Amino acid sequence: MKVVFVVGAGPAGLYAAQKIARAGHEVVIFNRDIKPGGLAEYGIYPTKEKMKGGLRKQFAKILALPQVSYFGHLPVGEGYALHLNELREFNPAALVFSVGAQGTKELGLPGEHSKGVYSAKDFVFFYNQLPPFSSQDFSTGKRVAIVGMGNVAIDIAHWLLVDDPHHSAEEVTIVARRGPFEAKFDEKEFDYVAAHLDRRAFDEELRRVKEKVTAVGQDITKLSETTFPILAKPAVDAKKPVLKFRFMCSAKEIIPGPSGRIEKLVVTENILVPKGETTAAKATDQTTTLDFDTMIFAIGDAADPKVGLPFSKDSYITNPDVATNEYAAYEVFDPAAGKVVPGTFVVGWARKASEGLVGVARFDAEKGAGHVLEYLERVSEPKTATPAEIARRIERTGRQLVDKAGIDLLGRVEAAEAQKRGLPSFKFADDEKMLAAIAQERTAPVSADD
Ligand SMILES: Cc1cc2nc3c(=O)[nH]c(=O)nc-3n(C[C@H](O)[C@H](O)[C@H](O)COP(=O)(O)OP(=O)(O)OC[C@H]3O[C@@H](n4cnc5c(N)ncnc54)[C@H](O)[C@@H]3O)c2cc1C
Repeated sequence: MKVVFVVGAGPAGLYAAQKIARAGHEVVIFNRDIKPGGLAEYGIYPTKEKMKGGLRKQFAKILALPQVSYFGHLPVGEGYALHLNELREFNPAALVFSVGAQGTKELGLPGEHSKGVYSAKDFVFFYNQLPPFSSQDFSTGKRVAIVGMGNVAIDIAHWLLVDDPHHSAEEVTIVARRGPFEAKFDEKEFDYVAAHLDRRAFDEELRRVKEKVTAVGQDITKLSETTFPILAKPAVDAKKPVLKFRFMCSAKEIIPGPSGRIEKLVVTENILVPKGETTAAKATDQTTTLDFDTMIFAIGDAADPKVGLPFSKDSYITNPDVATNEYAAYEVFDPAAGKVVPGTFVVGWARKASEGLVGVARFDAEKGAGHVLEYLERVSEPKTATPAEIARRIERTGRQLVDKAGIDLLGRVEAAEAQKRGLPSFKFADDEKMLAAIAQERTAPVSADD
């Protein structure tokens, strides 16, 4: 029996922990957020209650495994509560990083830091009530641009068009580099916003790009058979607020108004060029200025360099020897030393940012965990600090940790609160309230139902 540390308790970390624990090892999980679940808790659309509930139950079962310990409210990394070197001093047999993709891809555009310009990840964290994003300013205006044409862009449109309690948006526009045939969202996700599609504006947009689309051999009359099945249905007046599309253009410059908030978005018009089986966007020298007071960019995320693993561009560096080693992509590699960092692995979105749904993250994590198990067979057992020793050392720094019992107590308080308010679920949107609820529940007298 050896002790493995798993950093990050999203789906990847939890499924990896389960596989390692079931093989007879001990697992200590360190998680930035108080609650486990990662994007399953704080990314998946808030009204997908059944999916979220099902995942929460699976995660609770994993945490209930006796070989698994949990320290929530503890970000790990350089400049975070627990430095990577301090973590290594606890002497685990192996370290698995499943921290997701917490870095933001910079757009590199003039005006990018104007008010009202947000990354999709931060905006999604905001409406899913992840502290501290839940209490930050993510105000939206009347004319919102969402840059990107995948499921995350549609989730955000869903929020703005249907569920946003502030109902600020009058018009939401999906701004895409390529054309209507390159839409990447699922039909099921689009159904949530379909009633808001401004069909007249959409037809006009198709007329505008028809020539460019035809130039790469795409037949615009076939759109209803591919990416926009809604076009096969009779057009009806759009529900307000409305959804529009602006195809074949890339953000070039954000122009703020006097208040510092985005007022205009300058875009470069693109054409399509064939690229293998698909197409690529190619910039022209033509630009257009569009009016927007909010812009959310949903172009995928990057790994967080502050974690402290060897890093290049948008990701952690892994073993380049993929030709002869099937697991190379899971092994962290130090280019300065020219070798693999012993016993250090990445799985899930930490390994490949924004790659796939929960099922994909699970598959990836379990494959990576399989490799960790093989590694454990080859190494001798180090003297790893016990969870109690780890907790004592960290709490000495004044950091308040949340353990498995704390998560259970918080779950009870939130379930009771949901029942009281007649909601399908309830969650606290700031860490202090969560910590206070746990502390209060811990000292509450045991009721007859317990
Ligand atoms: C907007 C959106 C909607 C989605 N909707 C769906 C959907 O409907 N269905 C579906 O199947 N999939 C959906 N997905 C995809 C799914 O959420 C991912 O596949 C999955 O969550 C990736 O798992 P992960 O564990 O790799 O990363 P994450 O879920 O991001 O988990 C990372 C974990 O690491 C922790 N962490 C981060 N940094 C640190 C640190 N420095 N130290 C310690 N801990 C750290 C975080 O607290 C978090 O718990 C959606 C994704 C997004 C962005």
